Amino acid sequence: MSWIQNHKDCEGEHNNMTNTNAIRCTFLGTGTSMGVPVAGGFGRNWVSKDPRNERWRCSAWIQSEDTSVIIDAGPEFRLQTIRAGVEWIDLVLITHEHMDHIAGLDDLRAYNYKQEFPIPLFTNEESATAIRQRFDYMFEPIKYPGSTSLDIEIIDKSRTFRDLTITPLPCTHGNVDVQGYRINQLSYLTDVKSIPESTKERIRGSSVMVLSGLRWSPSHPTHLTIPEAVEIAEELEIPMTYLIHMNSYVDHGKSQKKLPPHVRLAYDMQEITIP
Ligand SMILES: [Zn+2]
Ligand SMILES: [Zn+2]
Repeated sequence: MSWIQNHKDCEGEHNNMTNTNAIRCTFLGTGTSMGVPVAGGFGRNWVSKDPRNERWRCSAWIQSEDTSVIIDAGPEFRLQTIRAGVEWIDLVLITHEHMDHIAGLDDLRAYNYKQEFPIPLFTNEESATAIRQRFDYMFEPIKYPGSTSLDIEIIDKSRTFRDLTITPLPCTHGNVDVQGYRINQLSYLTDVKSIPESTKERIRGSSVMVLSGLRWSPSHPTHLTIPEAVEIAEELEIPMTYLIHMNSYVDHGKSQKKLPPHVRLAYDMQEITIP
């Protein structure tokens, strides 16, 4: 039974207003490219021992009544799926080609074995090319038996997937084209430096935005800082924004105190519901 079905069953007869567009987002990882702490544990003491200061590479699990979607599959993908109990994946959305977002794609083969179909993967053109090059063995005419089976589709405009409306949100990340996604009322963007006006139009009206904010300062050539991300959340008048992709210097507790109430730091395994 899906979590929405559970929720409906608890509502009783008086409320027939269940919003079937509602989705749940579980943050599988909220850390920057090296994770927090980094390999070797270096810099572990830069932040407090609050477990929310341990951040695996950025990924999210989106669930609606009928559909289970993963956004990005980085180096901890296998561990993240086990930790969160992801037992089925209908669709993978990839934001861009950097390895902290795609290194775990090979582990989708466990789902291929169970589900017995190639997993649809939506992304932009640049990332599709990179995935086909780096994981070339998955796309050979005669594949090694048991290798991962993905069905890549480049999306550049809004489309329906089962009970979800998915809209690509193209942005820039240095010289890399990154693509966030609006899924119903949630806009998810990571590894962003600037958001074009046409993409801002697609984000406006979202109830919740997830946006990357690397660190407090100084500014970075390819990533938004936390203050820059807050500025965008305010400009777009999003009721609630969660920040992701934070580095080893960002302390959860201290940062929360400095942020306005409509902007929070996300943490690994946090679950939010988007109406
Ligand atoms: Zn990244
Ligand atoms: Zn990146």
